[in-house]
Amino acid sequence: MTSVTHYIDGKYTGASERSQSLYNPATGRVSGSVSLASASETANAVASAKAAFPAWSETPPLRRARVMFKFKALVEENIDELAALITQEHGKVIDDAKGELTRGLEVVEFACGIPHLLKGEMTEQIGAGIDAWSLNQPLGVVAGISPFNFPIMVPMWMFPIAIACGNTFVMKPSEKDPSSTLRIAELLTEAGLPDGVFNVVNGDKEAVDVLLTHPDVQAVSFVGSTPIAEYIYSTASAHGKRVQALGGAKNHMVVMPDADLDQAVAALMGAAYGSAGERCMAISVAVAVGNVADALIDKLTPKVEALRVGNGNIDGMEMGPLVTAEHLKKVEGYVAQGVQEGATLVVDGRGVKAEIADEDNADGFFLGGCLFDNVTSDMTVYRDEIFGPVLAIVRVPDYATAVKLINEHEFGNGTAIFTQNGDAARQFCHEIQVGMVGVNVPIPVPMAFHSFGGWKRSLFGPLHMHGPDGVRFYTRRKAITARWPTGIRTNADFIMPTMK
Ligand code: NAD
Repeated sequence: MTSVTHYIDGKYTGASERSQSLYNPATGRVSGSVSLASASETANAVASAKAAFPAWSETPPLRRARVMFKFKALVEENIDELAALITQEHGKVIDDAKGELTRGLEVVEFACGIPHLLKGEMTEQIGAGIDAWSLNQPLGVVAGISPFNFPIMVPMWMFPIAIACGNTFVMKPSEKDPSSTLRIAELLTEAGLPDGVFNVVNGDKEAVDVLLTHPDVQAVSFVGSTPIAEYIYSTASAHGKRVQALGGAKNHMVVMPDADLDQAVAALMGAAYGSAGERCMAISVAVAVGNVADALIDKLTPKVEALRVGNGNIDGMEMGPLVTAEHLKKVEGYVAQGVQEGATLVVDGRGVKAEIADEDNADGFFLGGCLFDNVTSDMTVYRDEIFGPVLAIVRVPDYATAVKLINEHEFGNGTAIFTQNGDAARQFCHEIQVGMVGVNVPIPVPMAFHSFGGWKRSLFGPLHMHGPDGVRFYTRRKAITARWPTGIRTNADFIMPTMK
């Protein structure tokens, strides 16, 4: 049994008064407990980050980058252990956990370039004898609050850039799978990060509310469901903080009549059922244009039925369990509701026989792949984010109806079009009201040196995460205009200065 506490000022703290159970979702058994920080424990983490800020922000960017280089090497050395921790608490298959780590490390690699990224702009002789330049300076203490579905990658969207910019950080991981995030904190210390620069508090609303309202927290990065993202955005903004709050999604993949169907089916299988559909960029709706639907379903059905579902640490598994018993129940409830609302359930994954090695009487939170046909835009299974292995096929007569459908959905995180027609693809990229778009690419998650973010109710705040927006979010600009004594005039100016 593990007892997960907090990591403050470079060391683990004792257990909190409140705690909650951790589960191995593949067996359904309790694997330990996680402390839930009180308001004062959370304030301790903020105080530790505040105390570390002056020295860390004065540390030259190149030295900060060197810590990131070392940290990257340590994560690579420990990748098997980190992936196993993710799988044990989240359930995703080991190779997928390693994929998450690789995508997170790309942000660390980006942050290694911070000496270049922090450079400001300079204009010499902006006026007679006057030079002007801009600086990008860190904000101070910043906080991150992350969801269960990427316990390492999503924190890595935030802290590498924040820290490399010279800020100090308080991370609040998901209370469902916090262990791998804490191991990351240990590796940062091992990489030479001074104590207090990166702190982890585990907890729930009580801890989060401190981070949203504490006067010493300058900025909050959040990733999670839309209702909580809205709460985070409004509360932290009202307390004068910079906020980026990424929310939920319902991602559509348009399959045009000219698409290579085998390619589209392979893409849909990975994008809809990978990580058991618990990805904010998962494809949960396939929009079949024209007469493509029947052939699409014929090709998809046997593949969905043949998905290998089981404990993520068994070789060859394609889908692990859902994260908790409650979440399984919720997703199964959506499947029942889809049937009730009149959609055709082509493949029903409820009651799937999962593969579990060496575990007697295990009762994991498994759901097999589910496939719905004839879904319409008024149905709950179409409108809501389900966050499970459930793919809905919506049949539309033409391209324009597909675009209208997507643009009218409240979420706008990711989308894709599969076609061999460049004109259709180009027009789609131009007019679609979604933040991240794939052309024959089902999960268009931008690489680390670009920024990640959705539109509409998938993101609250002006800046996307990581890449150039990450540097903008975690720094503030200062514009300096300087003139040295030789040119100073003796009399004061009482008119608005203009270029002379
Ligand atoms: P969640 O919103 O339940 O939890 C996210 C974080 O918020 C957790 O750390 C949790 O402890 C905290 N939290 C939960 N309830 C709270 C409350 N009442 N007050 C304050 N804090 C609270 O999300 P989840 O179930 O962990 O993750 C799945 C969701 O995250 C999905 O909706 C998914 O689409 C979304 N997500 C979005 C992105 C993106 O980039 N847009 C990426 C990953 C996940």
